[in-house]
Amino acid sequence: MTYTPEEVWKNCLKIIKDNVNMQSFRTWFEPIRPVKIENEILTIQVPSQFFYEWLEEHYVNLLRKTIKRELGETAGLEYQIIVENGNGANPQTINYPANQNGGNLNNEVNMPLKLGTTIKNPFVIPGIRKVNIDPQLNPTYNFESFVEGECNRLARSAGYAVANKPGGTAFNPLVIYGGVGLGKTHLAQAIGNMIKVKFSSKTVLYVSSEKFSSQFYEAVRSNSINDFIHFYQLIDVLILDDIQFFANKERTQDILFHIFNHLHQNKKQLILTSDRPPKDLEGIEDRLLSRFKWGLAADLQVPDFETRVAILEKKMYTDGIELPKEVVEFVAYNIKTNVRELEGALISLLAQSSLNRKEVDIDLAKKIVKNFVKNISREVSVEFIMKTVCDYFDVPIDKLKEKTRKRAIVQARQLSMFLAKNLTKNSLKVIGKHFGGRDHSTVIHSCQAIQNLMDTDNKFKDQVEEIRKKIQLSI
Ligand code: ADP
Ligand code: MG
Repeated sequence: MTYTPEEVWKNCLKIIKDNVNMQSFRTWFEPIRPVKIENEILTIQVPSQFFYEWLEEHYVNLLRKTIKRELGETAGLEYQIIVENGNGANPQTINYPANQNGGNLNNEVNMPLKLGTTIKNPFVIPGIRKVNIDPQLNPTYNFESFVEGECNRLARSAGYAVANKPGGTAFNPLVIYGGVGLGKTHLAQAIGNMIKVKFSSKTVLYVSSEKFSSQFYEAVRSNSINDFIHFYQLIDVLILDDIQFFANKERTQDILFHIFNHLHQNKKQLILTSDRPPKDLEGIEDRLLSRFKWGLAADLQVPDFETRVAILEKKMYTDGIELPKEVVEFVAYNIKTNVRELEGALISLLAQSSLNRKEVDIDLAKKIVKNFVKNISREVSVEFIMKTVCDYFDVPIDKLKEKTRKRAIVQARQLSMFLAKNLTKNSLKVIGKHFGGRDHSTVIHSCQAIQNLMDTDNKFKDQVEEIRKKIQLSI
């Protein structure tokens, strides 16, 4: 007895319908077309590579069982995928046998996506064409405005490499990780902005993980998962911000896994950010985690004092603001762990000063900074003293640790010791250590020498007072 593929498939659908929920049935089974039966192998046509992968992963056992029930124990299943070759003519088909073990997705097949004509852009406009996808980037987040420092050297240069060759470096995905307010979003968007400039035909998209997730739920709700997937498969450079948000969201992770695979297989660039290194992400499936580790994970660390000053100065320059150097240094010295707060303090400072028509001075800065940091550092460090002294006399800080006997250096070294003794609680021994391991008697001698000079040289005394004030203002 012979059956037509339509009849067999109709019977299969009846069984499947009883085994999956309505939503899944509509999404994953209604679009399937039976093509032929040959040698007890049923060939079904599916709309895309993704569709095939999804069926293989989630429903292969159900499909196999159902088909065996209809066609006998020796029955087999094959998929046919329609692939358009760009010019709209002669769609080709590619056949895959169903996976005999079920659920294994390690195929390495590369295939152009079949482009439907009605792909919905979850970013507002339906039916949008690929060229018109808005990258959702903030143009002020670029490389020029991103201050380079030791804290971000690796991430920045990897980002730069990616921007010059999206999808063409080993950094795929590029994962940028680090604490709150350290510039992850800024750097990730800088890469996107640069790619838009260098490769205007590339489709770049920035999306927060939260937004991605809610778009996905919306797609589930409105039964348009396919549109959602197709939209994301169009992207050449996908920037996904704050992936730690996906923790324990299994369904979103599932869909991301497939989109990730598709993009990666097609040499599209993925840029991810996270508040911790991939290995410490919790509640993320292993298969996704392992993919996050395929490329490069580069961290953003807390910027050092010089970089913090440079960031503030850049911001002031861009906004056309001028502030006394001591105010800038005071803010940079006290706000240490978060660049966003650093900028916040600067903005509050300007707001307060224009509201009260007051000059921005160190007293105002102190008031503002108090609102940002719980405990402004009470004890100044020996390093900071050394740095302030060296800046003042314009000598290199390293020289203080060396044996140099040049007068200017000796004086800076002795004065630093003197101030360290007076302004910190460190023992003479500890102070000596900071200066290339000098012993406590050298520190005593230095302190005496400075005291003598202050007693005899008023100009020098004034200088010392000025430096002491600079340092104390930071406490
Ligand atoms: P994250 O995403 O890591 O929380 P953001 O990228 O939002 O941090 O950065 C917070 C703010 O700090 C932004 O306004 C950003 O422009 C600024 N910023 C961070 N790092 C730098 C840097 N190296 N140079 C200039 N601005 C920076
Ligand atoms: Mg961010």
